[in-house]
Amino acid sequence: MRIRDKFNEKTVFSFEVFPPKKTDSIDIVYKTLDELKGLSPDFISVTFSAGGSGNGALSCEIASKIKEGNNVEPMVHLPCINYSKDEISDVLEEFKNRGIENVLALRGDINPDIEPKRHFEHASDLITFIKSKGDFDIAGACYPEGHMDSANLVEDVINLKKKVDAGADHLITQLFFDNDAFYRFREKTAIAGINVPIEAGIMPVVNKKQIERMVSMCGASLPAKFSKMMQKYENNPEALRDAGIAYAINQIVDLLANDVDGIHLYTMNNSYVARKISDAVSGIIGSKK
Ligand code: FAD
Repeated sequence: MRIRDKFNEKTVFSFEVFPPKKTDSIDIVYKTLDELKGLSPDFISVTFSAGGSGNGALSCEIASKIKEGNNVEPMVHLPCINYSKDEISDVLEEFKNRGIENVLALRGDINPDIEPKRHFEHASDLITFIKSKGDFDIAGACYPEGHMDSANLVEDVINLKKKVDAGADHLITQLFFDNDAFYRFREKTAIAGINVPIEAGIMPVVNKKQIERMVSMCGASLPAKFSKMMQKYENNPEALRDAGIAYAINQIVDLLANDVDGIHLYTMNNSYVARKISDAVSGIIGSKK
């Protein structure tokens, strides 16, 4: 089933996983997947390396594993900046052969150590290309606090409209900790005429290192109540994990009350955290919008 159809039925609830590092066994990810599938998400997405390191083939393999038994839809992320048109064509063929219908079309981060191939400048170019190759369900990324390459949020939303006009069926946000930033963003997208579903990307923060790395990478702002929590429990890993889970649940409940189209949980391959959050919100998320 294509994911776009699910938004007509309910508030979508999805998970994100990533392939193991070269030194780790894929079996660990498969075990996590079995646990995540038991939580009955609407889909599970798999990240894909923008090139240089990592292995796109592994992402396809993991997506096939998600599809096994046909009870959960996989979505594969596809960053294009370091790949040629022929390489992307081959990946799309591989998706078709494996019955993978859902793609998150991405530009990918510019890596200073890799000369980009630039067959695709932006995700919108990739979306046009994917549409010429078959009837895929296409998602795009969006940024409630603006993408780092954009001068400001208005410019970013104008560019986001180009992505939707190219054919993105729905959008998933970068992680954020301040729901008000998401609501302000959603208003701007409505004014810009963006009318596809927007899933809110929520990352439960369960250790201090993780938050420092993520925030430096994506620039999400930290509300005072979040920073206070981090400071109070930074030397108590279990308390910090539980506080991070509680914070994510609070964010999700507020988003649901404000008619969010979907919740995309950045699970960081941690099924314990995903289960705690899923248990807490499944009754609310399952109810009709
Ligand atoms: P674009 O949409 O191309 O946007 C990049 C910049 O260009 C923005 O400033 C935008 O305003 C501008 N822009 C966009 N379109 C146009 C246009 N037509 N004309 C002019 N300017 C334009 N990276 C990975 O490598 N692998 C992953 O698996 C991965 N998964 C992700 C999942 C999610 C949910 C998100 C939010 C991000 C993910 N990323 C991943 C990171 C992503 O690749 C980076 O954020 C990247 O820097 C931008 O990708 P994009 O698709 O948003 O790019």
